[in-house]
Amino acid sequence: MNTNLRSESLGPADAASTGPRVGVLALQGDFREHARVLSGLGADVSLVRRPNELAALDGLVIPGGESTVMDKLSRAYGLAEPLKAAIADGLPVYGTCAGLIMLADTLLDAIADQQSLGGLDVVVRRNAFGSQNQSFETDLDVPALGGEPVHAVFIRGPVVESVGPAATPLASLADGRVVAVEQGNLLGTSFHPEITGEHRFHEYFLEKAGRRAAAARTP
Ligand code: GLN
Repeated sequence: MNTNLRSESLGPADAASTGPRVGVLALQGDFREHARVLSGLGADVSLVRRPNELAALDGLVIPGGESTVMDKLSRAYGLAEPLKAAIADGLPVYGTCAGLIMLADTLLDAIADQQSLGGLDVVVRRNAFGSQNQSFETDLDVPALGGEPVHAVFIRGPVVESVGPAATPLASLADGRVVAVEQGNLLGTSFHPEITGEHRFHEYFLEKAGRRAAAARTP
């Protein structure tokens, strides 16, 4: 499989991109959907499967999928420690669903030996919606993004059970459960904007990546 998206068909924005250089962790899950959205927004997108592919990135997306598999593969491929170091260094990272689980400092209902990368000062419960309501759609107010509510698709998603002092909730369900959080350059959502045509979270992430790129390229 190609590791470089520029050799795959991603539309015209990719070829001429001067936007921030963003990676999408491509160990497992819906990384192609994220890559298409980011490329369409003008980012210079690459897929990340090896530690050296993290170098020179201005931002990273960790997709939805299965966090237990992403955890195992990231450790097996020697990516977990470089990813933790990049997060600690302030790299903008956006995690959706399993990606949010990977970014959480503390997990509930994890499998034995499951580890997260951490970075977000939150407690996240996996598969929090139970068998009757594993997948559903709803509209969420997200004041940080302004404008219309965000149409959110949940697919066996996690919830943020508690938000520590370093993190800020961005959106909650009607029952008060938190489903989107931010902490500095880190962003996490329980749901999947990459599959609904809702691009404001990706734009919000790319603003962070753009600021990182500008700072890195200032002499
Ligand atoms: N239930 C999955 C997990 O625990 C997440 C599902 C998703 O990313 N859509 O990783």
